[in-house]
Order: sequence, then C-alpha cells, then structure tokens
Amino acid sequence: MAISFTTEPASRLQKRLIVGLSVILCGLAISAGFNAAMPLAPVPAFLPAYAMAVIITDLLTAYLMASQYRILRRPSLLVLASAYLYSGLIVIPQMLVFPGVFSPTGMLGAGAQSAVWLWVMWHGGFPILVSLYLLADGYERPVERPTASPGLIGLMVAVSVALVLAATLAATIGHDRLPQLIVTNSYLSLANSLWGQGVLVANAIAFIAVLGLTRCRTVGQLGLAFAILASLVDAALTLAGGARFSLGWYVARMCTILASGSVLAVFIYEMTSLYACCLTLNSALERMAFVDALTGIANRRQFDQRLEAEWNRAYRDGRPLALILLDIDHFKRFNDRYGHPAGDECLRRVAWAINSCTRRPGDLAARYGGEEFAVILPNSDLPGAMAIAEKISQAVRAMGLKHENGTSAGIVTVSAGVASLRPSGVGATIAGLKSMADAALYDAKEHGRDRVEASTANAA
Ligand code: GH3
Ligand code: MG
Ligand code: MG
Repeated sequence: MAISFTTEPASRLQKRLIVGLSVILCGLAISAGFNAAMPLAPVPAFLPAYAMAVIITDLLTAYLMASQYRILRRPSLLVLASAYLYSGLIVIPQMLVFPGVFSPTGMLGAGAQSAVWLWVMWHGGFPILVSLYLLADGYERPVERPTASPGLIGLMVAVSVALVLAATLAATIGHDRLPQLIVTNSYLSLANSLWGQGVLVANAIAFIAVLGLTRCRTVGQLGLAFAILASLVDAALTLAGGARFSLGWYVARMCTILASGSVLAVFIYEMTSLYACCLTLNSALERMAFVDALTGIANRRQFDQRLEAEWNRAYRDGRPLALILLDIDHFKRFNDRYGHPAGDECLRRVAWAINSCTRRPGDLAARYGGEEFAVILPNSDLPGAMAIAEKISQAVRAMGLKHENGTSAGIVTVSAGVASLRPSGVGATIAGLKSMADAALYDAKEHGRDRVEASTANAA
C-alpha cells in the first residue's frame, strides 16, 4: 500500500486541531454575520491580490491531486483535481469582467451582471464537483491499475477548461438573457434568488457529504472538510453582506482563500511528515541491505563495496591494504554436537569478538559467508595485520565457548589467513589480495587450525 497524503489516517490530534479551527472560523463568521452589511471602503488592490492567492493555491492543489492520481491510480482523485482547477481558472475571467479591476466596466464585453454570475458558477460549481468526487470515491473499488493514464489527466484538464469557458461565455455573450442579480454594487436580490440559495445548498450538501461519506478518516478528507466548511461560510457571508465592499463581502473573500489554501496546507504538512518517514524507512532499508541479519556486523555486500573503495584509496595514497580471512574451526561438528540455534549464537559471539578488535575508523569486520569472516585493514602492512589477526584469535579463545569436538583446545577457535598488498604495486589486484589471504587461511587449516598464517606470496 502506497503511503500518501490521501490515504494517511488522520490522528486524533489532527482531528482536534481541525475541529478547533472550524469552531474559530464559525465564531468569526457569526460575529461578522451580525454586521455583514456594514459598508467598508473599497480597496482597489484587494481584488487582484486576493485573486492571485486563490489562483496559485487552487492550481497547485489541482496539480498535487493529479500527482496523487499518478501515484495511487484512483481516477476519482482527478474529479477533485478538476474541482480545484475549475476554481483556480474561473477566477481569471471573474477578475477580467469585474468592474473597476482592469477597466471601469469590466473586460471581455462584460455587462453589469457578468462578475456576479461568474461568482454563482464558481461557488456553485466547486461544491458540485467536490460532491461528485466524494460519490466517485465512495463507489471506486481499490483496483490495482498497472499505470496512471496521461490521457485521463488530459481529459480532466480539458473538461475543467471547457467548464470555465462555458461559464465565461454564458456570463458575457449570454449576459442579456441572465436574470438580474446586482444593481450597481448591491446584490441583495441574489440572496433571495434561487441561484443564491442554490449556491448555499450546494455547499451545504458537499459539507454533509464530506462528513457523512468519508467520516474524515484520512488527513486529506479532514483538510477537504475544512475547505468545504470555509466555502460554505464564504457563500453565506457573501449573501449576508448583500453588497460589494461590505464587511460580509470582505470576510467572505478571506474565507475563499481559506477554502482554497487549507487542502494545500494539509498537503504540505503531510509531505513534510512523509519525507521524514521516508528518511527513516530509507535508513532502515540501508541497514537491512548492508548489515548481516544474524550477527549485526557488516554483510558481504558492504564488504565488497568497502574493499573496492579502500583499494582505490590505498592506490591513490600509495599505501598498503591488508585483508584477514577467518574461519571457525570444525564448525560443522559444533552444529552437529550442540544444534543449529547454539551454532547461530556462536556465530554471533565470534562476530562480536572479531568486531571488537577493529579500532581504526577505516577498519571493517564483515561476515563473508557461513562461518567465515573477513577484516579489511587500510594502511596496514603484513606485521600490523598479523598482530590484529592474533588479537582476534585470542579474543575468540578468551570467550571460552565449549567445543568438545573441535580442536585440541576444547573451545571454539578460528583459523586466519592474512595478506597485505600495495595496490599501486605492479600486477596488484583485489582478486589477488583475496586469493593470497585465502591461500594463507588454507595453510592455517592444513597446519592444524587454531592459528594465524601470513600469505607466502607476501613473504616472498
Ligand atoms: P573447518 O575447520 O575445515 O572450517 O571445518 P568446518 O566444519 O568449520 O567447515 P565446513 O565448511 O565443512 O562447515 C561449515 C559449517 O558452517 C556448515 C554449516 O552447517 C555451518 N554454517 C554455515 N552458516 C551457518 C549459520 O548461519 N548458522 C549455523 N548454525 N551454521 C552455519
Ligand atoms: Mg568454511
Ligand atoms: Mg570452518
């Protein structure tokens, strides 16, 4: 299951936070509602600034919703994306036709009713599209689709643009056929018309739908519920204001920004949390990929990577690189005598003993495979590496793990082969270093086990 903003369960704290914010919003709305019709000074710069905020947040939300569709492959998310795209785009013609913003009477051949009709289609269309999303989301089966369809995203964009174009044409070319809702700046008749009440009802239905159908289980649904509540308050205050530049009208515009920005805010918050979660998972994965599960020391993959890196470093610096290969003596017999679980525990303890003998920052002890271990010792010549190998051999013996069928010592012992090479030397290779250490280990086994042997090639 993909971790995503739309599927992440909402925590109790997040639910409480949104309930708290909703109470504050409703409190503000009610107190503004008493004086909603109070006229305030018209601020010419207010509308373009407000429009820019809504356009940016709505378009960003639409983009993020479409991205969620690409991750989760749930086509219903495209309906929600289209609600935000429609809302973000319809602001553009609304500003163009708004009297006094770009021209005294509005552009695009606007009439006096154009802006208010675009508002009706904007604030009515958005909750209708959100309700459609909620219905689609409820009926959608979580089928595993192989890929997201770019065609479907294109269709969503085309439908949203077509809806905005149709609304713009209706409000401009079709202006004269539309009922009158505004006289100069006063739109009191809108509040009493079916259109105004229709906008309220559409928002109320969307709000009930988001609560009833989703029960705000995920963070996304929680953010959406708050957005719809803000949209409902926006419509109610606009109607209660009854005129442009009234207190209700100004506060309602702020609610539009809230409705537009709340889903985006939740999105950003969740993305940050998911990013932190990804980092944690990534380091856990890295650990699993480079650490041996049984012993907790470096695994073969980490050993191979480190050996190559240290080899290259030693080549550049002209320094020697040493390798110790270790093998537990008569370990098959240990398993046969004491059982595999005891064998595993023995491997763990031998690994810790080996690891405790590596002290320098570049040193690495790794499980090479089965009951074999390897130690990389950068900048170590043969005598230095022999000393470490002897120390490891002593550390294993010092544990005193009983092994009656092992070497004559009667305890768990290891054999070790040691080699050191200067990578910058003629014909020196990593494979050569490994086979030198391996041959030395073979000698240690041949010469009676429980001993450390240096590579004869080194001696030569
Ligand atoms: P030698 O002294 O020649 O090395 O003899 P040996 O018995 O140690 O060597 P051999 O290669 O014949 O046997 C290695 C044994 O290590 C066989 C296998 O059962 C055991 N072994 C390998 N990996 C594990 C493991 O993860 N857990 C346990 N318990 N045993 C393991
Ligand atoms: Mg072995
Ligand atoms: Mg062995």
